[in-house]
Amino acid sequence: MATTVAPKLYKNYIGGEWVDARGGSAIENRNPANTDDLAGMFPASTAEDVAAAVDAAAEAYKTWRLVPAPKRAELLFRAAELLVRRKEEFSRDMTREMGKVLAETRGDVQEAIDMTYYMAGEGRRQFGKTTPSELPNKAAMCVRQPLGVCGLITPWNFPMAIPSWKTMPALVLGNTVVIKPAQETPLSVYNMLEVLNEAGVPRGVVNLVSGAGSTCGPAMLKNSGVKAVSFTGSTEVGILVGEECAPLLRPCHLELGGKNIILVMDDANLDLAVDGCIWGGFGTSGQRCTAASRVGVHKKIYREFLDRFTARAKSLKVGDGLDPASEMGPVISKKQLDTVMSYVQIGTNEGAKLAAGGHRLQGGPWAKGWFHEPTIFADVDPGMRIAQEEIFGPVVSVIPVDGLAHAVDVANGVKYGLSSAIYTRNVNAAFSAMRDLHTGIVYVNAPTIGAETHLPFGGTKQTGNGHRESGDAALDFYSEWKTIYVDYSDRLQRAQIDTGNLGPAE
Ligand code: NAD
Repeated sequence: MATTVAPKLYKNYIGGEWVDARGGSAIENRNPANTDDLAGMFPASTAEDVAAAVDAAAEAYKTWRLVPAPKRAELLFRAAELLVRRKEEFSRDMTREMGKVLAETRGDVQEAIDMTYYMAGEGRRQFGKTTPSELPNKAAMCVRQPLGVCGLITPWNFPMAIPSWKTMPALVLGNTVVIKPAQETPLSVYNMLEVLNEAGVPRGVVNLVSGAGSTCGPAMLKNSGVKAVSFTGSTEVGILVGEECAPLLRPCHLELGGKNIILVMDDANLDLAVDGCIWGGFGTSGQRCTAASRVGVHKKIYREFLDRFTARAKSLKVGDGLDPASEMGPVISKKQLDTVMSYVQIGTNEGAKLAAGGHRLQGGPWAKGWFHEPTIFADVDPGMRIAQEEIFGPVVSVIPVDGLAHAVDVANGVKYGLSSAIYTRNVNAAFSAMRDLHTGIVYVNAPTIGAETHLPFGGTKQTGNGHRESGDAALDFYSEWKTIYVDYSDRLQRAQIDTGNLGPAE
């Protein structure tokens, strides 16, 4: 049933103006906890809109790159202050547009705040290097240079945090950006841009084009005015993005899927491990790229762990994320719910034992949303599809393991490599796992989620293409090195040739 209140009509932000999409059509943004609730109508942008945004960003780049970095940073600092002021409002908007509980959307906005402050600090760092030259009276140094217009394509599960991870380092380094948010969550990016605008970021430096990935994505990727692309999303789409960037030899940063694991050893603090598996497995309804969708448990403690873990999962309160009592919200969409339900069927057919949940939640408080029970499969074989493929929902596979070596083999036996965790009180086991787990992030005595903004974030294998975001690693993607030599000898000096003239050795 449609809402009776006229929905708010949002616009694109191009060249410092809020503008309608050229095609004039719009996409609904509905609350996945209550599909009667229409959070807004967003532009269904066309290739023309994307081109206009790229042109605006290219024009703005001419002057933005020349603004001293500490001055650019002051604008980010101001934006961070504004985000702090509007944190609660933006968190509520985010819960409404994508469903995760308020505590988590507050965390998402906080992550954007942290990233904005952190990158504001980079205004006075961005250190280059100076080094002695091999020749006399010659200076040698290298400095970071911006790339130009950066095309940013973002997913729905971290609607403000991930766009901020990309936008803030790009801006402080002197790039301009065009953001194409996920079709499901444009409101949070709209909010972030409103703040950047209010902070005084000049026209055209940040641009927002909302719309379908299948329309706006290719339009952005084929535009030669886009000098670098940063994409976070599924491995399938990420590969397409990489293929589009390759012929242009354009820098391309891909942050993709995961099939993360928590290992629980026989000496683990079980209460702590259960807490971690509940948070890692069911936080954001299992829709985090770092979600712990697998748990490998030492055989000696397997039954005890499973009993406690399933009891806790069954007691989780699932409901509207705006209700402070809710511990887990809905999944993002009907399509995602269908995927979750199909994997429950796949797991059952594969012979895994359904230990908790397994069903869609319907009726009563769940009648108008896409809710699913927290679900646990036990006695899972590591080769099963439910233990190999990214489900992106509240479904955890518990796998018995013989010991540390087996646990690490199971952990590494998937095509992804984002995050892993081990619960143990044995320092030797912890350090061996830290060395041998082939993931971009490893936690000890903490779940697979909990990244902080000042350290590199990203994964190995099919989780990405080797770049990292966040922390100073982000500076490496959004800039390129320029090496500069200054010869003040007033004569031709030839590197590698005129270097041995130190006189006779005797
Ligand atoms: P998705 O791949 O469906 O969409 C991601 C973005 O790509 C969206 O903005 C979408 O509109 C756009 N897109 C779709 N088709 C496109 C095309 N042909 N060309 C260009 N862009 C296109 O992913 P999603 O469902 O939004 O997000 C979930 C996925 O993201 C999961 O696989 C999850 O693991 C991954 N993810 C990874 C990380 C990480 O840091 N590694 C973080 C969050 C999410």
